[in-house]
Amino acid sequence: MHTSEYSDVPSSLSALSLEGQFSFHNMSHASKDFGNQFQLQPSAVLQPKSVSDISTTIKHVYQMGPRSPLTVAARGHGHSLQGQAQAPDGIIIQMESFKGPGIHVHYTGNLPYVDVAGGELWINLLKESLKYGLAPKSWTDYLHLTVGGTLSNAGISGQAFRHGPQISNVYQLEIVTGKGEVMICSPAENADLFYAVLGGLGQFGIITRARIALQPATKMVKWVRVLYSNFTTFTQDQEMLIAAEKTFDYIEGFVIINRTGILNNWRSSFSPQDPVQASHFTSDGKTLFCLEMTKNFNPDETEIMNKEIYMLLSKLRYIPSTLFQSEVTYLEFLDRVHVSELKLRAKGLWEIPHPWLNLLIPRSKIHDFAERVFSDILRDSNNGPILLYPLNKSKWDNRTSVVIPDEEVFYLVALLSSAPPSPNHDDTTLEHALKLNGDILDFCEQADIGMKQYLPYYTTEEGWRAHFGSKWKVFTQRKLDYDPLAILAPGQRIFHKATLISSPKLLNMA
Ligand SMILES: Cc1cc2nc3c(=O)[nH]c(=O)nc-3n(C[C@H](O)[C@H](O)[C@H](O)COP(=O)(O)OP(=O)(O)OC[C@H]3O[C@@H](n4cnc5c(N)ncnc54)[C@H](O)[C@@H]3O)c2cc1C
Repeated sequence: MHTSEYSDVPSSLSALSLEGQFSFHNMSHASKDFGNQFQLQPSAVLQPKSVSDISTTIKHVYQMGPRSPLTVAARGHGHSLQGQAQAPDGIIIQMESFKGPGIHVHYTGNLPYVDVAGGELWINLLKESLKYGLAPKSWTDYLHLTVGGTLSNAGISGQAFRHGPQISNVYQLEIVTGKGEVMICSPAENADLFYAVLGGLGQFGIITRARIALQPATKMVKWVRVLYSNFTTFTQDQEMLIAAEKTFDYIEGFVIINRTGILNNWRSSFSPQDPVQASHFTSDGKTLFCLEMTKNFNPDETEIMNKEIYMLLSKLRYIPSTLFQSEVTYLEFLDRVHVSELKLRAKGLWEIPHPWLNLLIPRSKIHDFAERVFSDILRDSNNGPILLYPLNKSKWDNRTSVVIPDEEVFYLVALLSSAPPSPNHDDTTLEHALKLNGDILDFCEQADIGMKQYLPYYTTEEGWRAHFGSKWKVFTQRKLDYDPLAILAPGQRIFHKATLISSPKLLNMA
């Protein structure tokens, strides 16, 4: 805090009447995230026990007015990469402390759904919904993330080609806005707030409850991987599969640049029973591409499922000797990355810097991108998995805040680097990874790739304005409507507290 007038944060917050509590000491946990690159200390951490705790706190900060520098960030599971859930000198709301009325599965009727607190982990939601034979439709690859955290971005995985991202599968939200108001919103009620918050990077309100669409859950999945040496054939097959009516239930892919070791393969643990893993295939210096798919089945339908897979595989042009298959339960498949997390944790390789770069690349430019990035910029690097798979714009709702490329098919390219300590215990591995990221971003700009960042990270107004493009005007208007003092999610570095008031020029710059 810089202004003495506002310096006594603890006593002003302690005076609030809450069910939960504030802590003002031992806050190092709230100043860390998965990215492990930024550590910004808050002034206070709230463990809320009710929606009213969250609303009272934000109202209090709102009433302090624009001259108070105090800000508020919801912290989900803290799996952001560059401090997006941090609030320097502000208040962190520890969303996992607020469980609300629990996880409520509504299983009757044609459109089953679950009501869940914004701070709930997807893994807990899944385990509860499976008790009713139901599950959400769209996922992330890793489930130890909160509902509010992924809905603030998009929530993308190999089911998105069919169901859209997680933000396309939400019926209703309960939000505490930047003025402290509690609002229910849906496509039919307060629709502007509903769409603002989805993919809204935490800028418009805190998601205290979400109503998520469910569908009947499969019991088992057949998990298949095949390898390609030709990028064009690989992407043509991926695109054919996502466009087909009868197809796999999950379609992803990854790039193998002659890489070995746990840091490169953590994302891709396949079957514990199967020692022959596609991700361990050595490529003798060549870049290989792995297509990864699953087909849902129940144990009494194994024969039909095998026939369907045979039909689908017969249309693909992978290297014939590279078919890897495994059968696992649905839960094992969806929670697959957690297995790798445990292995990495045991080796001290989880809580290290993660200079990840997630990009959305239009289909028309994916070959230019691949040629430059995989054969040149990243040719000698081997510090993490690279996911690459197509998505279709028609499954995304343009009214939400998320930004995607302007083409019907675009690719998610996730460069999931880790920066383990270098032998000299300095930051050289991190610096090297950040330099490669910078080279990739520079190339995208120079070659006019039309790329959009996913989990975007910009530090200047120009950067954000370019990111949002034609959506910037709506985004800033929504900020004025729902968080006019720019109190929320300061770690995204989009707005600075009170700048909207002091510089209305933002609105004229779309
Ligand atoms: C191992 C790993 C695998 C991943 N895999 C995928 C993947 O497959 N697909 C994908 O799409 N993403 C993936 N992600 C990225 C992930 O979706 C984001 O990092 C997400 O932000 C993490 O959720 P969180 O609950 O930890 O949120 P946090 O990091 O805590 O918060 C993220 C942002 O949302 C805000 N926020 C948090 N909770 C709320 C709330 N309740 N209401 C409003 N705003 C809120 C925060 O203030 C912050 O700005 C992965 C991340 C990791 C670490």
